[in-house]
Amino acid sequence: LSVNFTPLQQNSGKKGGIIAVLQDVTEQQRLEQQRREFVANVSHELRTPLTTIKSYVEALVDGAVDDAELSNRFLRVTMTETERMIRLVNDLLQLSRFDSQGIRLHKKEIDIGRLLKYAADRFAMQSEQQGISFALEIPKEVPHVLADPDVLNQVLDNLISNAIKYTPEGGAIQLGLSLNWQQKRIYVSISDTGIGIPKRDLKRIFERFYRVDKARSRSQGGTGLGLAIARELVHAHGGEIAIESEWNEGTTVTFWISFEKRGEGR
Ligand code: ADP
Repeated sequence: LSVNFTPLQQNSGKKGGIIAVLQDVTEQQRLEQQRREFVANVSHELRTPLTTIKSYVEALVDGAVDDAELSNRFLRVTMTETERMIRLVNDLLQLSRFDSQGIRLHKKEIDIGRLLKYAADRFAMQSEQQGISFALEIPKEVPHVLADPDVLNQVLDNLISNAIKYTPEGGAIQLGLSLNWQQKRIYVSISDTGIGIPKRDLKRIFERFYRVDKARSRSQGGTGLGLAIARELVHAHGGEIAIESEWNEGTTVTFWISFEKRGEGR
């Protein structure tokens, strides 16, 4: 609801009361507004790399191509920006598929502990190459869950790659799994000792394109869609995802899914 007050002026110039206009900002208007913002965001996100590519290609055409070292550098920037644009378009296509068709899961009985071990294998080397230690903690007995392993791998990839992107050299990442037998939930957490997220941004951090520092995210190859996608994929499994963070100290993202036989947690 929006309220507008306009003071009534009488001919004499004396104030003669107030008109209050009450406007119902309907759900439809809100959705339309969201859609407009989304299109503006997408256009902006695509224009940024395109502008960069254009200026580097122009410099090459204008003669930089004759300098072997310079042209190598410029072509590399062009390649990196093109790759990021491809990632962005792929993420967008995935989200638009979610919106139009929902998320199709191919569920099987899986051992999430094993899934985490594979994820650790995929990322430990990259993490350690960047001077970030990587640890994995899994309890002995982990019940099987009915879930889509490819989809959960994507969730883990998005969250672990964020932990690596936003943790400086010398930091640590911990991947953990814990169980709540009473609620029959498996909790997976990804903790880092990285740059953290200011409190005021936490509430909106799962929104599409919401980022603390756009320039930093872009320079790390980010698209601003990783957390939004992760949340949709966890929700599709009937679970929940949450984030806790301390600015300059670190971040923990935790998600759970249910291990009830039917796998429908909510
Ligand atoms: P991006 O591609 O920008 O990383 P995400 O949707 O994955 O997009 O994340 C959104 C924003 O949340 C990031 O730009 C960053 O500001 C913040 N963020 C996500 N994960 C972390 C983390 N582990 N540490 C600090 N900031 C994070």
